[in-house]
Amino acid sequence: MALHDKDRIFTNVYGYQPWNLAAAKKRGDWDNTKKLLALGRDKIIDEIKASNLRGRGGAGFPTGLKWSFMPKEPNPARPSFLVINADESEPGSCKDREIIRHDPHKLIEGALVAGFAMGARAAYIYIRGEYIREAETLFAAVQEAYDAGLLGKNACKSGYDFDVFVHRGAGAYICGEETAMLESLEGKKGQPRLKPPFPAGAGLYGCPTTVNNVESIAVAPTILRRGAAWFNLFGREGNRGTKLFQISGHVNKPCVVEEEMSIPFSELIEKHCGGIRGGKDNLLAVIPGGSSVPLVKAEDIWDAPMDFDGLKALGSGLGTAAVIVMDKSTDIVRAIARLSYFYKHESCGQCTPCREGTGWMWRMMERLRVGDGEIGDIDMLQQVTKQVEGHTICALGDAAAWPIQGLIRHFRPELERRIAENVREAAE
Ligand code: SF4
Repeated sequence: MALHDKDRIFTNVYGYQPWNLAAAKKRGDWDNTKKLLALGRDKIIDEIKASNLRGRGGAGFPTGLKWSFMPKEPNPARPSFLVINADESEPGSCKDREIIRHDPHKLIEGALVAGFAMGARAAYIYIRGEYIREAETLFAAVQEAYDAGLLGKNACKSGYDFDVFVHRGAGAYICGEETAMLESLEGKKGQPRLKPPFPAGAGLYGCPTTVNNVESIAVAPTILRRGAAWFNLFGREGNRGTKLFQISGHVNKPCVVEEEMSIPFSELIEKHCGGIRGGKDNLLAVIPGGSSVPLVKAEDIWDAPMDFDGLKALGSGLGTAAVIVMDKSTDIVRAIARLSYFYKHESCGQCTPCREGTGWMWRMMERLRVGDGEIGDIDMLQQVTKQVEGHTICALGDAAAWPIQGLIRHFRPELERRIAENVREAAE
């Protein structure tokens, strides 16, 4: 089913209207939120489960199920918390920024509804340090909500007390990992924790905590108002709803756009981005979900459905739906080497395969970029990515390994060509 304007959840993503409370109310936010809360915790969670909403931060875990892991009975000695991940540091991702800039009340209302559903005492919104203007907007929007009685004691006259705190990060990519974020919120170094225990058991300050992405929380009130059945009208089985796609790179009109899940790549690009720069035949490859997922070659992605399962079937992932398009002018080895540098730089250094492996992989990528190596180095690099993948505390190790694996899988002849040319140069 095609997505029409009336079906869009984010109706101010381009900022054509003000972000403030009065304008947000006109767009339908905070419309009888008390009634939504009156549904009760179980009903809200059941509805979110029935909507088949999957987390929009990258992992795609069912959101309603995640909420249901939180304790059912309140415990004043160990209150529950909702932590909202607005750290958005994945190269290519820029959707949460638009929500916070132009539609912050969707997020704040979502925080109240989701927090209520999981019995949380408060929500902490952890916003990326570089998002300075966005943080200013968010602080102001939260204050508006307090002033209007929508947050705080007896929030929305529901009888429920709920606070929202905004916390600014300091610019470390790894603080987007949920347990590193909890450490950072507690005032410690942002280094991921070993799991278990999982945050739902022992999270922020050792209390039960759920960490959700901005988009996952911001869509919740609209799903409850329009119903799970409405949300299920969009996308394929297992990949329901609408999604903010962020398309950057070699398209004629890069943009952030809300579309239905499972939209074919070609339709997304032709309809919203004015097509590939230089035309369809000029497309080389696409990183479909932010820099940490493997790239997909042009011929494989053109007709692919842009959703969790469709991209998994191609050996990649939807991630945050940050679609990085590369045309044939791209030096693909250099592009992936640059990502390797990023992950080396952002490794927190806690575990050896990541600390040592990311630096080694980057140095090897730099050598292969100029063809300085032997054919066997490609295989060795592949082996090292496999030794890093899955052997680290958090997913940064995987994130560093996967782009290189994608490069070797799809562009091995290019790596070999560079080595051969360099050998030839040396011989001349
Ligand atoms: Fe830190 Fe890397 Fe280990 Fe994650 S995988 S905990 S970033 S060293």
